[in-house]
Amino acid sequence: MNHEDLRHWSKRAADWAADYHAGLRTRPVRPALVPGAFAAALPAQAPEVAEPMQAIWDDFTRLVPDAMTHWQHPRFFAYFPANAAPASMLAEQLANAIAAQAMLWQTAPAATELEEVMIRWLAQALGLPFTRGTIHDSATTATLAAVLTMRERALGWAGLTGGLAGAPRLRIYASDQTHSSVDKAVRLAGIGQDNLVKIATDADGAMQVAALAAAIARDRAAGYLPAGVVTCAGGTSVGAFDGIGAVVAVARDAGLMSHVDAAWAGSAMICPEFRPLWSGAEAADSVVMNPHKWLGAQFDCAVQFLADPGPQIRTLGLRPAYLETPGQDEITNFNEWTVPLGRRFRALKLWFVMRAYGLDGLRTRIRNHVAWARAAAAALAALPGVEIVTPPALSLFSFALQAGDAATKALLVRINDDGRIYLTQSRHAGRYVIRVQVGQFDCTAEDVRMIASVVSELLT
Ligand code: PLP
Repeated sequence: MNHEDLRHWSKRAADWAADYHAGLRTRPVRPALVPGAFAAALPAQAPEVAEPMQAIWDDFTRLVPDAMTHWQHPRFFAYFPANAAPASMLAEQLANAIAAQAMLWQTAPAATELEEVMIRWLAQALGLPFTRGTIHDSATTATLAAVLTMRERALGWAGLTGGLAGAPRLRIYASDQTHSSVDKAVRLAGIGQDNLVKIATDADGAMQVAALAAAIARDRAAGYLPAGVVTCAGGTSVGAFDGIGAVVAVARDAGLMSHVDAAWAGSAMICPEFRPLWSGAEAADSVVMNPHKWLGAQFDCAVQFLADPGPQIRTLGLRPAYLETPGQDEITNFNEWTVPLGRRFRALKLWFVMRAYGLDGLRTRIRNHVAWARAAAAALAALPGVEIVTPPALSLFSFALQAGDAATKALLVRINDDGRIYLTQSRHAGRYVIRVQVGQFDCTAEDVRMIASVVSELLT
């Protein structure tokens, strides 16, 4: 396969993609497949001799689509969305063609400068005052970067060279509604799960701020070294929000760094009416939000805004001789802001998406999702035996059957075996609940109405 062949096959791939997306509603959202079935259809070894592209293509079309869960299906209401707007797919195609490694300004000047401009565009669109930040692969990595920075700032940057042996025991604080990526970050940062202090939440899911202040004071008195607070803007389970302004104020008063995890809900903040939900985020040291969830710039694209990038660069940046840019010492080299050295050209899809739909077009989509989620919750609440457990937080809510956990779990299995819609589960206040999130880029009011009609049908 050479570049002339690629010209031919890229066109076929574009046609295949258009047909695939046009036909999604005719497919089950999640395939009915037993684990291992897909792998069993593949040879045990790689071929020694080159195969014709037609044979590879035929195997792809025969085997792969039917064995995938279709994240771009308009009736994907599971987890959080991983939207891929058509303009984003086009940008990714172009970024793939250039195939740059954007670790330094000089290895990818346009990618570096577009990333800087996109950070400013997006911050303005979200009503945030930040002018600096970077794009990571995932919110998990952004949160890891923030937690590593919390650690090093608290240790006076001694951990980078001396390690943690003999260092004071660090503490990180977060509510019990924050995502498991925070747990992962403290584990990877060598702080240890036991030193992630999970602060209890109120009935509305917000961190108890007085409990946070008390925990920091108690830990200090006991000889721990409090380092930072991760605050939750749209928790994964049921969409909980901390009172971010109050949490950030406690962190600041205690001299701790604050990081806001708005991985999902951040996209909604392009709509001014939702911004009271994360009021105070503008005062945090770091904020992460994933355009790859709800804004249409496909996976992977996690934006981290930084009030002052200096501490993170000091924590993550290394500049051996082979990474120097002679005569340009002060230039932005984004590898110094992130965990991996190598970086993809992720800013391109943000540029294409914001221009192709306009902020107003994106707002309309998010407002529709929120309105349709509220209507879906009302329609489910009207079904006999169904109870809304958590009301819509933006476009996420949960429900359960009054008959109890076993009945709710059995209903979820029936829903997903049916395949017309796809929902997932969580636990809330000790109960097994079914989560519903509305956010797929191409979903319509009719797609969302199908949630209550499918549930109603399967209940009878
Ligand atoms: N934070 C929240 C609130 C999430 O919901 C998720 C994933 O759903 C993450 C972090 C992790 O996101 P990522 O897959 O970008 O690492």
